[in-house]
Amino acid sequence: MQRSQSIFERARAVIPGGVNSPVRACRSVGADPVFIASGRGSRVTDADGNEYIDLIGSWGPLILGHAHPEILATIAEVMAAGTTFGAPTEIEVKFAEALRAAVPSMEMVRAVSSGTEATMSALRLARGFTGRARIIKVDGGYHGHADCLLVAAGSGAATLGIPGSAGVPDGAARDTIVVPYNDLASVERAVAADDVAAVIIEPVAGNMGLVAPAAGYLEGLRTLTARHGTVLIFDEVMTGFRVAYGGAQARYRITPDLTTIGKIIGGGLPAAAFGGRADIMQKLAPLGPVYQAGTLSGNPLAMAAGLKAMEILARPGSYERLEQLGQRLGDGLAAAARSAGVPAVMNRVGSMLTLFFCPGPVTDYASAKTADTTRFGAFFRNMRDRGVFLPPSQFEAMFVSLAHTDAEIDQIVDAARTALAD
Ligand SMILES: *Cc1c(COP(=O)(O)O)cnc(C)c1O
Repeated sequence: MQRSQSIFERARAVIPGGVNSPVRACRSVGADPVFIASGRGSRVTDADGNEYIDLIGSWGPLILGHAHPEILATIAEVMAAGTTFGAPTEIEVKFAEALRAAVPSMEMVRAVSSGTEATMSALRLARGFTGRARIIKVDGGYHGHADCLLVAAGSGAATLGIPGSAGVPDGAARDTIVVPYNDLASVERAVAADDVAAVIIEPVAGNMGLVAPAAGYLEGLRTLTARHGTVLIFDEVMTGFRVAYGGAQARYRITPDLTTIGKIIGGGLPAAAFGGRADIMQKLAPLGPVYQAGTLSGNPLAMAAGLKAMEILARPGSYERLEQLGQRLGDGLAAAARSAGVPAVMNRVGSMLTLFFCPGPVTDYASAKTADTTRFGAFFRNMRDRGVFLPPSQFEAMFVSLAHTDAEIDQIVDAARTALAD
């Protein structure tokens, strides 16, 4: 028996579904999980010794590729001085300063350990600040798995075809209003009563597959929320340091009130943060009445890895290079689908992209769901067998890293041309 198979059997006995996060199970693409043994640069090797060009990048964090030597050296150096203290350290201050320099709307920052914690905390803060209970989220938008956000959630929940989740009490979902992405009129109606605490949104949707904001959409959200005293939260856990150094808010020049950010800012270790207007952030304990805490928040290893990642990304040419690579892959995959006669839409912003198997256009979750997920499953398996590891869901984005080469992108496109012809 293959080693992966035997690991998977052991895993299923002790871990529900054999995985610690559901999409990794690869169920929606009719495959078994790929157990990874190691990663380096743009490539990962599985437990059976098969090598793949990786387009998952740990779901976004690894924009520099796997096992980046400078990140590893930084972690080793900081680790020698101890791994956690539960008391503040200077590296947390440097991290907050670097984050504020990159994303100026984050006037004050608090570090946490996951994107879920960041969005959950930002929402509590927005509710505490406004004294209002209701929130607005987008259908197919994913913001982690806090109860009030698992309402028509995308990502894993959408992939598995469960709207919301069992175990979420009606009370937690009742104050969540769900609107279609790219639809300003529905937000306008929902905020009109001046009782909405926050709009939380992925400024570039990445968890229904990649969907870009329509012209004027983010501006419209900014105007509407400002008019009604509603806190605008950009969930940039995926887009932060991805679609631009300063995130989607830099790319589209919109200033939210609060930002949640994660993935890339941990440099491959668990770190996330939320931050924004100082007058709102000062409502947090110990200054204000909104409670929020974390034993491992601001962990020195994660802060150091994240700081190093930010430093490397700030070097000249990083985002131009990511744009080129993203375009090469996006154009190549779109052409491959065309030449195979497969109806497909390529949605791309920078180095995030999704090939939807439908005639399109894909502008929101409803149109994303018209995609042929059976065809996507076959495509995933075919590409995996040709040495390309795609995100195992039609409703996730592929991520290109600075470790990918033009030759590897061409290799992926060649594999896709053959796979789509099959
Ligand atoms: C990944 C993601 C989250 C959740 O982050 P975790 O670290 O997985 O908890 C939240 N929001 C967005 C937009 C994400 O992409």
